[in-house]
Amino acid sequence: MTPDYAAILATIHAEVQPLLSEGKVASYIPQLSTVAVDQFGMALYCLDGSTYEVGAAQQKFSLQSITKLFALALAFSREGDAIWARVGREPSGNPFNSLVQLEYERGKPRNPFINAGALVMTDILSTRFVQSDVAVLQFARSIAAEAGIDFDLTVAQSERETAHRNYAIAHLMKDFGNLHNPVSTVIDSYCRQCSISMTCAELAKAGSFLAQHGTVPWSGLQILDRSSAKRLNALMLTCGTYDAAGDFAYRVGLPAKSGVGGGILALVPGELAVAVWSPGLDATGNSLAGTYALERFTTLTARSIF
Ligand code: GLU
Repeated sequence: MTPDYAAILATIHAEVQPLLSEGKVASYIPQLSTVAVDQFGMALYCLDGSTYEVGAAQQKFSLQSITKLFALALAFSREGDAIWARVGREPSGNPFNSLVQLEYERGKPRNPFINAGALVMTDILSTRFVQSDVAVLQFARSIAAEAGIDFDLTVAQSERETAHRNYAIAHLMKDFGNLHNPVSTVIDSYCRQCSISMTCAELAKAGSFLAQHGTVPWSGLQILDRSSAKRLNALMLTCGTYDAAGDFAYRVGLPAKSGVGGGILALVPGELAVAVWSPGLDATGNSLAGTYALERFTTLTARSIF
């Protein structure tokens, strides 16, 4: 039986209100710290085309690390298993921007969702496309069917000015031979890619091809074959929510990708994509109210992959 999604979203919206002041907006990218913390939006895109939303679901926010999922999907769709020669598929157990492991693992990042791995994806796309960030933007526009999706160049500039750690990661990988393009090209493209903004409604629609086993539900366009989509879902489950992927799987039970802008995209394979946004983060960098909202969503709908 289909759950009463409208009623469930309304319940969740009421339940998260006390949490909205508890998280902290990301401040290491200065422009992100200007966002008011007490905001919340949530949207569903069901594979039958029905949509539901609550709160600030039409408010644009900075996708940040969620764009790593789109970059990975694009690179995987073009390069296939060749990407695994340059990036692993294991959780790192370290902060997303850590350099420590990269040194003793000789420049091969643990997975495509930590910054080092995402920079390798940007490098792969930079070799294939004139501008990798524009390729990711066009990909995002096409899977969301929204031509208005764009970079937030103020956020991109703010990140580039403070990207010391990402420069360090990129230089280290360059030294190990795992970055083929100039460091400045890769960092510039990566910062613009991370600045792509979407609403929850757009993000749920954009992610729905991963819920429909690699095929865009409304157009029938196959982005990934079924097996590849399964693999990306598996990576989201094990590596998609920073160091908290184990706890997130325990609490929510869905493959998901989060970003420091406060967004989370989660998938119920075969049924729907759900996007949630609340900019206050918990200590692990995931949206505090967003994680709680997804936990309540899977509890109230009895939907999970387990
Ligand atoms: N652009 C951010 C960075 O590289 C993305 C971080 C995130 O959302 O996890 O630090």
